Amino acid sequence: MSNIETAILKAEQRCRDHGSRLTPRRRQVLRALIEAGQPISAYGLLEVCNTQGLDAMPAMSMYRILDYLVEQQLAHRLESSKKYVACSHINCCTEHFQRTHFLICSECSQVREVEVSEALIASLSGLAGAEGFHLSSRQLELPGVCKECH
Ligand SMILES: [Zn+2]
Ligand SMILES: [Zn+2]
Repeated sequence: MSNIETAILKAEQRCRDHGSRLTPRRRQVLRALIEAGQPISAYGLLEVCNTQGLDAMPAMSMYRILDYLVEQQLAHRLESSKKYVACSHINCCTEHFQRTHFLICSECSQVREVEVSEALIASLSGLAGAEGFHLSSRQLELPGVCKECH
């Protein structure tokens, strides 16, 4: 069984555990996200999905499905690029971090999920607050170059 099939099975299990269901549409979008292997926009996903067998999907449905996948932590939304990425932990059995942060390679676009201490986030938020600056996101997205591309 391929990694993607395993990931889909795990995702189905996770949805069931949370009392919902990975419908064929949701599964199709999740698969497209995993296959993309890097951040992709909702419209990019729409293009991929609408060239596949099922009836054409309106953009609204795509956003609803993406909201669902993000809520289930099967996917994440990158605020800086407004793109989506499949969670890299779908294949692990362990529970997801409370809040995930991202290292984004500017060469290959690979995204790495990292956990950051709440204390650091609180400290950043405090720093911003002292400047009268209200952070619109508490999600860190740090650009850089990954190990493979370095
Ligand atoms: Zn994740
Ligand atoms: Zn890279």
